[in-house]
Amino acid sequence: MMTTVLDRADIKAKYAAERAKRLRPEGNDQYQRLSGKFAALAADPYTPFIERAPVADHVTFAFVGAGMSGLVVGARLKEAGIDSFRLIDKAGGVGGTWYWNRYPGARCDTAAMIYLPLLEETGYIPSEKYVRGPEILAHCERIAAHYGLYDKALFHTEVSSIEWQEATRVWRITTNRGDDFTAKYVAIGTGPLHVAKLPGIAGIETFKGKSFHTSRWDYDYTGGDANGAPMDRLADKRVAVIGTGATGVQCIPQLARTAKQLFVFQRTPSSVDVRGNHPIDPQWFDSIARPGWQKRWMDNFVENMGGGIPSEDLINDGWTEISRRIREKALGSTPAWLAKAGMRAREAFNRPPIQMGTDRVRAAFEEADIEKMEEIRARIATVVQDPHTAEQLKPWYSQLCKRPCFSDEYLPAYNAPNTILVDTDGKGVEQITETGLVVGGKLYEVDCIIYASGFEYGANFQLKTGFDLKGRGGQMLSEYWADGLQTLHGLHMHGFPNAFAVQMNQGANMVSNIPHNIVDHAATIAQVVAHAERGGFAEIEPTQAAVSDWVQLILTAPPSMITSSDCTPGFWNNEGQGWNEKFRRSQGHPGGAGGFFRHIEAWRESGRRSGDFAGLVFSK
Ligand code: NDP
Repeated sequence: MMTTVLDRADIKAKYAAERAKRLRPEGNDQYQRLSGKFAALAADPYTPFIERAPVADHVTFAFVGAGMSGLVVGARLKEAGIDSFRLIDKAGGVGGTWYWNRYPGARCDTAAMIYLPLLEETGYIPSEKYVRGPEILAHCERIAAHYGLYDKALFHTEVSSIEWQEATRVWRITTNRGDDFTAKYVAIGTGPLHVAKLPGIAGIETFKGKSFHTSRWDYDYTGGDANGAPMDRLADKRVAVIGTGATGVQCIPQLARTAKQLFVFQRTPSSVDVRGNHPIDPQWFDSIARPGWQKRWMDNFVENMGGGIPSEDLINDGWTEISRRIREKALGSTPAWLAKAGMRAREAFNRPPIQMGTDRVRAAFEEADIEKMEEIRARIATVVQDPHTAEQLKPWYSQLCKRPCFSDEYLPAYNAPNTILVDTDGKGVEQITETGLVVGGKLYEVDCIIYASGFEYGANFQLKTGFDLKGRGGQMLSEYWADGLQTLHGLHMHGFPNAFAVQMNQGANMVSNIPHNIVDHAATIAQVVAHAERGGFAEIEPTQAAVSDWVQLILTAPPSMITSSDCTPGFWNNEGQGWNEKFRRSQGHPGGAGGFFRHIEAWRESGRRSGDFAGLVFSK
């Protein structure tokens, strides 16, 4: 007993020491955008730019962002009979994050059965449990084609302004391609992570070799392709990768296979758990694919990630394992107990569902987490042959402080003789020169630097999207949100009639399966828009009272496990700069994703039955 307590104290002291090394006073300001002198790095390497005439028409619904949000909302609107729909995107096609992130090895960590939306509607069977990026992009294109969403779409087009026209009660939209059109409804679904960022390393602009961000992969330079063809043009190149987050973990093994020399510059190691991928057998798929199966699977995932005791775990992945371990610690149960006894056992033991945020759950979380992280650290030592490298790859923080990663290829990559880990001891690369990168006073000369340095998160709305919404009375959305998000259900804003923000915060906030948030919002949008169209209403808008009540409810959410004070800094926790009310407003429903989905389904059901969508006003 004594040993365990001491071990835990040592581990926590180590976590605190590692956090202190990594903490930077500049917080999010340590990064820079792919603009100004770096603007060329933001260019689209995937689709040629095509000249077109500006549009000046009227559509019923305009959606900014042709990623999964725009696609799923478009699909649901088409199903509801709203045919006049326009997607607008700065990319050259649909797919959003999967359009841009074509780096080698890109794959989704969430099971395809629940991650790929509209599988039943499109009749598509994923090839594997965790599918590759090109398969996800192809599915996005499938949705667009299936629902006719390419008609009227504007690609390689950036919105300049969106303004509510009080006299005509429509939105006026202008773009950088000279478009000037109107829409009765607008929605913004530009994604939580779409503005690529570069590290603010001294001298970064002086580098004379090749460089690019992972979301703008230059296959002309590297050779190969997103489908896994070897990057043969790197055979004589010394390559540096900066960043070992979820992106770095996926592209580094591919680079290790082909580069003459690969230097991986690490600031904080990722936690890398086993992948456990396998093909999906079409016969097995047929056996489970009864009507409504995908919703059942998505709901089952939510149930397994939540505080109650699930009846079964259909997904059985690294995410549900995290929850299962916490639950077992909190309830003193075993996997067999959970699997066999399920809900009946809860009744038998007369135990309430676990309330996230209570001391009991926090203690259970800590115990389960230390156990898990010890396993993850031990695995490194068994896979990576060089003991010094293995030691440097060990993550010293709680698993949910950073995005957990899952890979069976990442750790073995460091056994390749051409692959060198350059650990920066939490400090980052010191300097970039004309010829290479400096760490610990040593210059590593390279031909190419690949920035796996991630994306802006939580930046203010206007900065992130490049445009602002001008609502009723000239109020800008960035002003309305200046002190933090304020919405009804994460979706509707007072003063911005017929406008929808398709995003996760103040809603389910489900980071482990982002499309679930989207699919749910799409159901709401299609329902309220169809209701307005059927009833001949000109405007849909929440009352400010409903918005304020909702924000107050969100502020009652228990502190999230990822904001813990011993967390290593990162984009999930505001770079360790504290969790003020502005950030707390970005939390989800206090009942977790399950609590939100239950609330919103009841809300939609009430609307369906009686036309009463509490908090929303429909006006003629
Ligand atoms: P991240 O922000 O997670 O990682 C950026 C990396 O760059 C970190 O390792 C960071 O270090 C490092 N870095 C930043 N500045 C410096 C510096 N000055 N010197 C050295 N290193 C530096 O971005 P990713 O693109 O990896 O991932 C973003 C998100 O995208 C993920 O969290 C996930 O949500 C999603 N994603 C999902 C995937 C999947 O499903 N498999 C795959 C890829 C991405 P530090 O950690 O110290 O900040």
